[in-house]
Amino acid sequence: MQTKTIIEPFKIKSVEPIRFTTKEEREKILKEAGFNPFLIHADDVLIDLLTDSGTSAMSSKQWAGIMDGDESYAGSRSFYRFEEAVNKITHMKYIIPTHQGRAAEKILFSIIGRSGKYFPNNTHFDTTRANIEFTGAEAVDLLNETGKHPEIRADFKGNMDVEKLATFIKEKGAENIPLCMITVTNNSGGGQPVSMQNIKETSEVCKKYNIPLFIDACRFAENAYFIKKREKGYTDKSLLEIAQEMFSYADGATMSAKKDGLANIGGFLAMNDTDLAMKCRNLLIVTEGFPTYGGLAGRDLEAIAQGLQEVLDEHYLQYRIRSVEYLGEKLVSAGVPIIEPPGGHAIYIDAKRFLPNIPSEKFPGQSIVCALYIEGGIRAVEIGSVMFGKYDKNGKLIPPPMELVRLAIPRRVYTQSHIDYVLEIILEVFKNRESLKGYKITYEAPMLRHFTARFEGI
Ligand SMILES: *Cc1c(COP(=O)(O)O)cnc(C)c1O
Repeated sequence: MQTKTIIEPFKIKSVEPIRFTTKEEREKILKEAGFNPFLIHADDVLIDLLTDSGTSAMSSKQWAGIMDGDESYAGSRSFYRFEEAVNKITHMKYIIPTHQGRAAEKILFSIIGRSGKYFPNNTHFDTTRANIEFTGAEAVDLLNETGKHPEIRADFKGNMDVEKLATFIKEKGAENIPLCMITVTNNSGGGQPVSMQNIKETSEVCKKYNIPLFIDACRFAENAYFIKKREKGYTDKSLLEIAQEMFSYADGATMSAKKDGLANIGGFLAMNDTDLAMKCRNLLIVTEGFPTYGGLAGRDLEAIAQGLQEVLDEHYLQYRIRSVEYLGEKLVSAGVPIIEPPGGHAIYIDAKRFLPNIPSEKFPGQSIVCALYIEGGIRAVEIGSVMFGKYDKNGKLIPPPMELVRLAIPRRVYTQSHIDYVLEIILEVFKNRESLKGYKITYEAPMLRHFTARFEGI
């Protein structure tokens, strides 16, 4: 039993001041940003929980790696260190660096996607979906049923619905499914983990139909920690061993090193198929760069190689998962509706239950996001009808199954008192929830509209 406080397993060597603003200033700032926090100047944000992507604090060893990076165009020493670090975890034959996760997706789906093709996943992340749809192919989410219910507590709510996957393959024909993905942890579905059993069963279905399985591995280490804590038979395994087993069931992976790479930029594609790897490398040269740097500087490759080693440290992951869980526990005990249990990298407020009087067409998630900024300078992101809503033929909104607000916790950046402050602000907004209003969109781009959309209060 854990009796002592789980502390930040690091001390702070370098600090970065954050800027305080008044509520009146924030009201003006948000209005000028079209009520879209993506369009706010980061200096005007006090606690930035927009994303855990690329926002990690690097370690002193990573910064040392930055200095030590080899900037040779071809055959850089830093590439070989990077390749070795990725290979140690994934055991994949071909490791292709890219400037971020979506660049890996773009390359992969440009080669294998086109209209008439289908790509199943537990839940596609927004860039993955966009990269698939851009080729004319269809991105399909086959999340298990418990994952769709924010209020149900279960250990592995990120799991793929394996039966649905098998039915889906029979229905669409294996020849129309160039690849199946599984996202660990399931970012868009609440950062919920996927069990080893589920990865294995998914891979068995894929093997049966000769469909390659790729892991969207952005948070593989956090997923490995949940497996260790929650799944039978893994308590005594090391996190590296668990990660290795996860990848052993896959034929390839896409990864954003901006998450569990503990780096500020970077990503990779990994795979075992020689022919596909050759095609990917050829496209990489056109869009990213030579295969030993792929859109990154040698120093970035060093930082990622070191980050991949640090991220599997048990003390780090224990602190990481606990700090998210701590915020979640306090919110739940105050009656704030969130996805339960909390996921690995973020707290997801259930906006439908938080604001039952604001329908999806009036974007309840956006309303909470705006209130958190005005009340406390906290920046969160809507993951609901703004991010994933579609329109039918008559221009009526087709909302996604959930209306969520994500508070993503950057890695190694904020301390417990920052988290306590965030809690106070959420509780304040929750207390005054009846005074919140809905929003309407006044501008939107044709794809990934949430990044640039503008709103007006109604
Ligand atoms: C962040 C993310 C991506 C895309 O990675 P970028 O580095 O932001 O391009 C893909 N999938 C998941 C699950 C992610 O969280």
